[in-house]
Order: sequence, then C-alpha cells, then structure tokens
Amino acid sequence: MSDHPLHVAILGAGLGGLCLAQGLQALGCRVSVFERDAALDSRPQGYRIRINQSGQAALAACLGTAATAALASARASTTPLRSFDAGLQALDKHLPAWSDRLVQGRVDHDWKMDRQAMRRAMLQGLESCVQFGMQLASVQSDGASVTLNFAHGPSQRCDLLVGADGVNSWLASHYLASAPAQDTGALCLYGRLSLAQAQQAGLAAPLLQATHAIFERQLALIIDPMQFDATGLMPSPENYLYWALIGQRHRFGLAPGAPLPQGGATLSLCCAAIAADWAPELRALFAATPVQSQALMTVRQTARIASWPTGRITALGDAVHAMSPASGLGCNTALRDAQLLCQQLQQVLAGQCSLETAIQHYESAMRVHAGAALQSSLEGSTALYAMPA
Ligand SMILES: Cc1cc2nc3c(=O)[nH]c(=O)nc-3n(C[C@H](O)[C@H](O)[C@H](O)COP(=O)(O)OP(=O)(O)OC[C@H]3O[C@@H](n4cnc5c(N)ncnc54)[C@H](O)[C@@H]3O)c2cc1C
Repeated sequence: MSDHPLHVAILGAGLGGLCLAQGLQALGCRVSVFERDAALDSRPQGYRIRINQSGQAALAACLGTAATAALASARASTTPLRSFDAGLQALDKHLPAWSDRLVQGRVDHDWKMDRQAMRRAMLQGLESCVQFGMQLASVQSDGASVTLNFAHGPSQRCDLLVGADGVNSWLASHYLASAPAQDTGALCLYGRLSLAQAQQAGLAAPLLQATHAIFERQLALIIDPMQFDATGLMPSPENYLYWALIGQRHRFGLAPGAPLPQGGATLSLCCAAIAADWAPELRALFAATPVQSQALMTVRQTARIASWPTGRITALGDAVHAMSPASGLGCNTALRDAQLLCQQLQQVLAGQCSLETAIQHYESAMRVHAGAALQSSLEGSTALYAMPA
C-alpha cells in the first residue's frame, strides 16, 4: 500500500454501511459515506429489527464495546414468543424461518431494536464523513483506484468502493453483474402504534406483553411490543406495538402484476378485508394503527449471489443478497459482512496482505455465510407459503 491512509468509500448509510464505516474508522482508514436520501429519516424503512447473536458480535467488533453497550441499552425489553391462529387460539408451531432458532432457545437472546434509533446511534462519530443527498451518476475504476461521479458536486476518488446501497443496488447491478433481487410473489405490510394508542383501543394485556406469531392461511402476522428502558445510555424512542403481516399477494386480494395499493387509507381497507373474520383484538389492532405509519412492500429475494471479478468495487448486505423479512436475517447478515470486511482490511493495514487478496477473501467468506442465510430464508418462506390455504 502507499503511505496515505486507505480510503474506503461506502455507498449507502443503512445499517450495513454505517457498521462498516464505524469499523473502518476505528482501524484508521479514511472513510466517506455517500447516502442518496436527504436525511436519515427521509422515508419509512421498517421499525423493529431483531439483532441476533451473530449481529451483536459484528456490532461489538465494528463499534467497540462502549458504543455497543450504549446501543444494547436502547433495546426493547425481551418478550416471550407465542404462536396463535387468527382466532388467537394457541398453536404448537412457529414461524418456519425461526423454528431452528426457537428450538435452540436462541430467539430470547435477540436484541429488539428500533431501526431509526439504531441508525442514529451508529451515525455518532461519523457525522463528518457521511454525506446525504448524494446521487451517484457513474463510477470509473482503473484497477488501482475508483472515481465516483455524482449528479451534483465534485467527483471523489478512493482506494475501494463498497456498495451498501440495499436491495436492487444500483452499484451491484451496474458494476458487479448482480441481477435484481426477484419478486417472490409475497408482500409485507407493516405498521406501528404507540402503546398509549394500543391501550386506548382496548388491546388487552397479553398482546402487549408477548411477541405474537399468528399463522392463518398462508399469512404470518408478527406483533411485537417495543418497550424501552428510559434510563438507558441513549435517548429511547416512545414505546410502541410493531406488527408485520407477510404472505402471498393473493392473500392481500391482489392479482399477479396488479399495482400495490398505496396510501394509508387504502392499506387500512386492505387490512380490514384480510382480518374480517379474525379475532376482534386483531381487527382492533389494525383499525387503531395510524394510516401514516403503515407501508406495503414487495418481498424480494436474491436468487444467487453474483460472481464478479475481484477489483476495487465490492458490496455488502441487501445490495448483493436481499432476503425476505420473514427470516429476520437480512440485517444480521449485512452486519456480519461489515465485520468480515473490516477483519480483512485490518490485515492490509498491518501489511499482512494486499488489498486485492483481502477483498478476494472477504468476497469468498461473504458468499459462504450469506449464501447459507439466503437458503435458510428461502426454506422458511417456502414452508410458510406451503401452509394450508
Ligand atoms: C419490515 C422489515 C423487517 C425486517 N426485520 C428484520 C429483522 O428483524 N432482522 C434482520 O436481520 N433483518 C430484518 N429486515 C431486513 C433488513 O432491514 C435489511 O436486510 C437490512 O436493512 C440490510 O441492510 P443494508 O445496509 O444492506 O441495506 P439498507 O439498510 O437498506 O441500507 C441501504 C441504504 O442505501 C441507500 N441507498 C440506496 N441506493 C443508493 C444509492 N444509489 N446511492 C447512495 N445510497 C443509496 C438507502 O437509502 C439506504 O439508506 C427487515 C426488513 C423489513 C422491510
């Protein structure tokens, strides 16, 4: 390496990109993060995110123990997981994607984090190297450096460019031969209401005290109470009840190829139709959820992680291996990628290997662990959608 600090540019200030930026900054790299959105909270991207033990280890490795302890103090309190049908009768089966971890009792160790609180925490200390509102127009690589040209503003040069720009990554499709993640035919509708709103709507205590996994005719509904410790090391979000409904398109009353209903009022009608014969508590949950807090998205999954010749452009997270939210693995896998890449670049800084070798090792390891996560996610979704209609 030359005598200047290794300069890594990261495209995307999502959870994977920020984790990587933290880890690289701690190693002494020069880090530049370019985020397309105008601000961290420009658009809804989900609310609750479960961080498993692998994700926690990756955070500790990249953020350090003090910042990780602060992050951990902002997690919601753990709740027991219970399975029901839509009449709220207890079931003895669980969300397929979680079943292995449930059997091994590992879900209890998950941190239930608020996504925006987590991103805000991970931005701390990076303020001077994250730029928002950056629209990348083109990239040139001469094999020894990469030049990023933006729609507005000066070009930037770096030693390595990492695409952390999420599902349907512009960078991965243009420069890493990555096919767009496939539409699985499933949809995910999610929303949240404050615990105060839930109580006003008369939602009974059990719904507010346990994580509910509800299975009904090829649909899964997760309801997760998010109650934060106001004495934690970080400002805590208000307490809320999160829910996410996932299932195949036709269960949402949509024909293949039909445009997704948009706008909160339409989504509320969609929920009311789905839940017409469900337990009154569940209908009340949907009815009490503010329309502006709801979002509907197509569930996409990467069929196979692309192969590309190793160079000065690589990627992590959903950019190269998007998976269904039902698996609860996407973010955890992105964090693990960030940890792996940091480990490899540390060796470059220590003079133990070349940048090319480090990237090659990272990409090989990423393909193995993310490939396994993709497979697990696929199996979980297949089992879910194979449930009786
Ligand atoms: C409802 C829901 C619930 C989920 N629950 C879980 C869970 O419990 N556990 C779990 O592990 N995973 C979960 N996931 C999946 C998880 O959210 C993703 O896998 C994770 O966010 C991927 O991180 P990432 O950094 O790769 O991408 P993202 O977090 O999507 O970040 C990508 C960033 O890149 C930016 N960007 C996009 N294009 C560009 C561009 N051209 N230039 C610059 N910036 C760009 C975006 O604005 C965004 O900020 C869930 C997903 C959803 C939708």
